[in-house]
Order: sequence, then structure tokens, then C-alpha cells
Amino acid sequence: MPDPIWFDPSLCLIGGDWRGAASGETLTLVNPSDGGDICHIARGGAADIDAAVTAAQAARDSDWGRMSALERGRILTRIGQKVLDRVDDLAALEAMDVGKPLGQARADALALARYMEFYGGAADKVHGATIPYLEGYTVYTLREPHGVTGHIVPWNYPMQIIGRSVGAALAMGNACVLKPAEEACLTALAFAHIAQEAGLPDGALNVVPGLGAEAGAALSGHAGVQHISFTGSVATGALVQQAAGKNVVPVTLELGGKSPQLVFDDADLDAALPFLVNAGCQNAGQTCSASSRILVQRGVYDEVRRRMTAAYGDLTVGPAMDDLRVGPLISSRQKEIVSGFIDKGADLTIAAQGVIVDHAPKAGAYVRPTLFADVPEDHPLARDEIFGPVQVLIPFDTEADALRIANGTDYGLVASIWTSDGARQMRLAKGLRSGQVFINNYGAGGGVELPFGGVGKSGHGREKGFEALYGFSVLKTVAAFHG
Ligand code: NAD
Repeated sequence: MPDPIWFDPSLCLIGGDWRGAASGETLTLVNPSDGGDICHIARGGAADIDAAVTAAQAARDSDWGRMSALERGRILTRIGQKVLDRVDDLAALEAMDVGKPLGQARADALALARYMEFYGGAADKVHGATIPYLEGYTVYTLREPHGVTGHIVPWNYPMQIIGRSVGAALAMGNACVLKPAEEACLTALAFAHIAQEAGLPDGALNVVPGLGAEAGAALSGHAGVQHISFTGSVATGALVQQAAGKNVVPVTLELGGKSPQLVFDDADLDAALPFLVNAGCQNAGQTCSASSRILVQRGVYDEVRRRMTAAYGDLTVGPAMDDLRVGPLISSRQKEIVSGFIDKGADLTIAAQGVIVDHAPKAGAYVRPTLFADVPEDHPLARDEIFGPVQVLIPFDTEADALRIANGTDYGLVASIWTSDGARQMRLAKGLRSGQVFINNYGAGGGVELPFGGVGKSGHGREKGFEALYGFSVLKTVAAFHG
């Protein structure tokens, strides 16, 4: 196996056993930094998903399903500790597989550990309520697991998304079937090995890599699954919701966005500037909560443009192991999509572009981070999710204009407000159509504890924080009549 893979990546985990896809077929993982093949992974299909759901049902009905919340929490905490022990190994895997600069991959591994710690600690702290009711009754509620939960994960942040969704589902006592993305699934497999080592019972976590249209579709339409958590594109999310709808199964959809930052004349620009640029270029812009729209009030527009242009000069792009500010995109297909968007801006002004280092392999999926200036609010680059390191600067005059432009896309995932006017902060926090609003920051350092999810085409349902534990459980009301 190529360094740093310490396990056989061509296998699925089903009921505690590592085995090849039933079809015997495999897919090839490609290293986005150089275009070379990394290894083969299983091409799981409907038969493997069926076996995984059966194994999860068995776990739900045996030791895992009967385990106390305290014990579940201890296992998750142990997984978190083992993830911490292997942060560098996981980071190396993710850098190779996703093309993430090593430092960003390391931050993702630390976040995975943090999710396990958070949900390990929270597992025995979710409880129901007693409800005052008619004379002679005692009424209370119970929070119970759904049963078998399906988790369909994209390639952009495998560790963070597995942490937030599988971590919360396991904490509530569900048994999980995880379908990682076909472009990047090494850390999903590594995580499953680590969870086994930490004592997670067989069948509580099953992992079936494979294509979306095969393994993904089989999981989202499986009649034995009681909840689906999906992160990815709007088009696929709609398909997943339809498939789950046939079984009347609840779905959490996290579908990306076109998240704005609103910079007012009274903003602290020194504080804002690193967030304005980083939020667009982190993970090469392949972030659902990337800030791709920078709305700037006219009084500081030229100054913000000047400072962002200077900052783009420091954006060097290169192989993941060089650990520069920006790595390659996930694939040559994604490079074509993002380059197509940059071409759509031919009628616009390019204010600045980052630089691809000379030694970056020609077969790598590199694009230059690009900042467009003076972009009309209805231009495709100001409305469509690009999923690459491309940002647009949009000038505005009044607070009302800023709110109209900010709310003017189909999405609503994250927004931020840069202003020292407290009343304006409160007005806009209420007025913005967005799942999260940040005031004088962006992203709050990742925010494992902070409920996360969208409105509109950004999706529905909430992950992260305690809110996820409610989503991964069902409320039962018990009304006892005792006279
Ligand atoms: P995608 O939605 O096709 O894939 C995400 C996951 O869904 C993968 O695991 C994939 O195998 C699975 N999948 C694909 N087809 C499926 C189906 N029919 N049924 C069930 N599961 C299926 O996303 P993509 O093709 O990898 O990326 C395309 C675009 O999606 C990107 O350009 C970006 O705009 C968006 N995206 C968003 C996020 C996010 O975090 N919101 C993440 C990745 C991609």
C-alpha cells in the first residue's frame, strides 16, 4: 500500500467484517495534487448496502441497542482520543486523497476528534420532559434513536462531516451506514478502523464506498433505513429526498450556499480582512459555507478592494504536501467546472488572482484564486455556487440594499456582518435569511457546538451542537393514567 495508507482500502466494513464489494469490482482513487492513481476502493452496490443495513439492524437489536447512554458516550470519547493519537496519520491521508494543504487536513482531523469528544460527553445529557396534564395523569417524553441511519458524505470535508453526522447519530444510539464519496474515502475507512479499535460494537458503524448512483441511491431508497443525513449538491439532495420520501423517512439536507459577508463603512477593516479572504479560499473554496460574495458599502469599497487585492497576491497554490494557502481542487472535472465559471466572468473586472507555484504538477487540478470587482448583483457569478476559490466584490449604498442583495439568492447557509453599530447588527441578524449569522467574525472557529444548516436551497435540518442530537432521535410521548 502506498504510504500513508495503513489498511486495505479496497474493503467495506459490514457487521464488523472487512470484505470486498459483492460484485468484486473496484474504483480508483486519484491524487488531485498530481493526477496519479492512489489505490483501489470497493465499488459497493445495492447488495452491499443491503448487507450493511441488515448488520446495522442486528446491532440496533443487540448489544449496541441495549447499551446505556453513559457507555455509548465513553466509547465515542475513546474514539476521539484515538483520533487525537493519529491526527498526523489522518491528515496525511486526507491531504493525499482530497488535495487539502496539510495544515487544513490536520485541522479537519482535530475537528473529528472534537466531534467525538463533544458527542461522547453529550450522549447521556439528552433527556425528555414531564408535562403537566389532566388530573390523574403523568405525562413524560422519551428521546429514542431512529434505528438505522444512513449517512451520505461528500469529498470536501470527509472527516468533519463524518464527525458531525455519524458522531451525533451514534451518541443517540442509532446504528449507522456510511457511504463516503467515491472521490475521497480514505479517512472514512481509517475512521472505521479507529472506531473498531476503540471498542465500537460490530454493526454500529458500517462503511460502504461506491458510486452515488449505485451505493448512494441504494442507501437513500432502502426500506430498512429510518433517517438519512445527506451533504452535497442541490440536485443530488433532491434525489435523495425523493428516494427517502417513498419510505416516508426524514432527511437532513446540507446543500451548500452563496454566503455573503456585509462590510459597512464603520467596520474594523483590520479585523475583517483575513476573514474576507480566508472564508473564500479555505479548502480551495470547496466549502459549503465558503463566503463567495463580499458586499461592501461604497465609503470603504475602494479600500477593501485594495486590501483584498494585496492579500490575493499572497495566495500561493500548490501540492497538498507543500502546505501552501491553497491546494488543488478535488478533480480535473471540478477544475473544468470552476474554470467555466471564471470564463463566465469575461465581461467583468478581475481585481486579483493568486499564483500557482512553478513546480505544481501539470496533471494536478489547480486553478488560480480569482477576485472579481464591481460585480452586478444579478450576474451568475454573484448568484450561483461555484465551489472553487472565486470571490465577487459587490458595492452597495444603504443597509436596505445590503439586505436585499444578501437575501437575493436561492441559498441561505451562512452570513456575516462587519459593523460597529450594535443596532444594525441586531436588525441584520434578524433580517438575513440564513442558518447562521456571524457578527464581526466569520465561522467562529468551526463551531462544533453551534447548530448548523440552511434555509432555501441550502437545505433543511440542523447538524452540530445539541440540535443534531434532537435530529438523530425521535420523541415519544408517554401518558399514564393512574387516577
Ligand atoms: P454530489 O451531491 O453528487 O455527491 C455528494 C455525495 O452524494 C457523494 O457521496 C455521492 O456519491 C453521493 N451521490 C451522488 N449521486 C447520488 C444519488 N443519486 N443518490 C444518493 N447519493 C448520491 O456532489 P458532487 O458531484 O461530488 O459535487 C457536485 C457539486 O455539489 C459541487 O460542485 C458543489 O457545488 C456541491 N457540493 C456541495 C457540498 C457541500 O458541502 N454542501 C459538498 C460537495 C459538493
